[in-house]
Parts: sequence; structure tokens; C-alpha cells
Amino acid sequence: MDAPAAEEQAAHDPAAEDQAAEVRAAGDDAPGPFAPGRLLGGVPAATSAAGVRRRAAAAPDVPALDARVSDCRACPRLVAWREEVARTRRRAYRDQEYWGRPIPGFGDVASRLLVLGLAPAAHGGNRTGRVFTGDRSGDWIFAALHRAGLVNQPTSTASDDGLVAHGARIAAAVRCAPPDNAPLPVERDTCAPWLDREVVLMPDLAVVLALGGFAWQSALGLARRAGWSVPRPAPVFGHGARADLGRPGAAPVVLLGSYHVSQQNTSTGRLTEPMLDVVVGRARDLAAAAPR
Ligand code: SF4
Repeated sequence: MDAPAAEEQAAHDPAAEDQAAEVRAAGDDAPGPFAPGRLLGGVPAATSAAGVRRRAAAAPDVPALDARVSDCRACPRLVAWREEVARTRRRAYRDQEYWGRPIPGFGDVASRLLVLGLAPAAHGGNRTGRVFTGDRSGDWIFAALHRAGLVNQPTSTASDDGLVAHGARIAAAVRCAPPDNAPLPVERDTCAPWLDREVVLMPDLAVVLALGGFAWQSALGLARRAGWSVPRPAPVFGHGARADLGRPGAAPVVLLGSYHVSQQNTSTGRLTEPMLDVVVGRARDLAAAAPR
């Protein structure tokens, strides 16, 4: 079996994953810190939007999904950027090896709350390998989640720092760090199947807390693709905004909005700790009270 054939089969058939990985490993990709042959997901990396869709849909569980996300190379501009940042590094981190890959979700997949951000930061998640970890945005959101009793510590500095989420899953709508924190629409759409599958694999999901307008729109897109009912006219993002997204045969998912925990918002006072605490606490309480 040649590599493309193995890739195609593995995307549909988990039993073919080992064979596909062997075929890929024996291929022409030179080993290196960011070479596509350095697989984590057990199947060849996605290199196209169609590949993302197939691999996401076939992921049997969250660990498999996370591994497949971590190997993804479907957006050429973002792959080039994340790896360029990982090679050149910021002066303060020049002695660290950057992750330089996509960032999977983090936290409790059995939880009822999903905290959804925009995309990893170039020297935050793209450096540490964990969403919202190693940058000031992470300082804000994890401190707030800690005050709400949803994580075990108020700081998030490295992937091995002992952080545990008790009642929340945290993920980004786009899994690779984009230049200027601005993914293109095609990159948002290419990445969406990873989020779609992640939500399917969270059977108890009741609340999505969208950090910023981009995440809000991504959550609405997720709802439409999943066949949930979205109010019309489309709910408008705002700090404290709420929309109830009806699911056929299940309780609605509540979408809450918060201003993003970006430095632009937090350093200017547009978002304060009390403002964030109110929304995070509301998300926690709605998740706890949601019918099972
Ligand atoms: S942004 Fe998403 S789809 Fe694009 S390369 Fe990264 S993980 Fe893959």
C-alpha cells in the first residue's frame, strides 16, 4: 500500500492506523523537529480541509482527536507561521523548545462547560503546547476559572505545571497561532471540524462560554453545522450576551459571551476581573443547573 492509499484508508478505518503510520514513517519525510513524519496521531497528518473533515469525523474519542489535531498541517499559511515562530523564538524564550504545532483542547471532556477562545498565541500556546498557557490572556482566564472553582490553580505557565480542570474544557476555535491573532475565514472553516467533533465527544455539554466575537461566531457556526436551532436574527455578541441553541431531542446549549481576555481588553479596562468573574460564574452555575 502506498502512503496516499494508507492515509485515505486510515482516515476511515481505525484498524488501518498502525499500518498507515508505518507507511508514513517509512516515507521520504526527513525527521526533524517539525517534520510531518513526526506523528502523534497514529494516522498521517491532515494536509487539506477534506483531510481534516475525514480525520475529525473518524476520531473515536478525545485522546485520538487531540492527537490528530496536534499533527494537522491543513493550513499552509498557519503551518509556516507557527513553525517560523518556533524556529526564531522570542528572546525571553530562546532557550526553550517551542511546541510549534496545533493546540488541542484541554480539560475535562465530561464537563458541561466549554470555554472557547480564538486561537493560540504565537509565544503562548504555540510555545508551551497548551491552550491559553504561557501568556497574559491565560493568566486572566485561568485565574478567573480558579476563582470560580473550575481549575485547581490560578496560573498556567507550562504544559507540565500541574493544572487540572475540574468542570471545564478549554479550546480554541482555530488551533494554530495566526499572524496578528487574525485567522482568515478559510482557516476558520478548515479548522472547524476539529471543534465539531470535540463537541460531539462532550455528551454532557450544556454551556459554551465564547471569549470574544470570533469565538461567538464560531460557536454559532458550530450550532448550525450540528443542526441545532439558532435564533433569528442571529444573536449579537456582547459581554454577558446569551443565546439558547436548541438541540433536537436534548436540552439547549446556552451560549454566553465575554469580551476576550486579550491584553488589548484587559490593559485598557474594557474587561475587568469583576466583569469576567460575573460571566464565568454564570457559565459555571448554568452548567451545574442544566438538566441531564
Ligand atoms: S488551523 Fe486547524 S485546520 Fe489549520 S493547520 Fe491548524 S489545526 Fe489544522
